[in-house]
Amino acid sequence: MTEPGAVSNEPEKPEEELSEEIIIKRRKRRQDRRLTQATKVAKIKARDGNECYLCNMPLTEEDMTMEHLIPKSKGGSSRIDNLKLAHGRCNVLKGDRLIEELELPFVWDEDS
Ligand SMILES: [Zn+2]
Repeated sequence: MTEPGAVSNEPEKPEEELSEEIIIKRRKRRQDRRLTQATKVAKIKARDGNECYLCNMPLTEEDMTMEHLIPKSKGGSSRIDNLKLAHGRCNVLKGDRLIEELELPFVWDEDS
């Protein structure tokens, strides 16, 4: 039988077996990540306005993605000076092309 509070080197246990303290810490970390994301979005909006940088149309909560100007795969950072807000559909259309390779702004037929 293991003493209560004994330190073990067992692999990570499923959440229900973890102590309350660890669960709270994990939850907090998750919240921090969300907060960072929300903070970044707020900062980008303050800088660029609530517009998609690809089509210049207003963004909505439902259709908004954070986009790397220089893709991470090409060494771009995740700092807000490398981030822009775009619609999901614009983001998809852009793909992994660079800004210089695009004909901007994208024009969407609003009836479609
Ligand atoms: Zn757009």
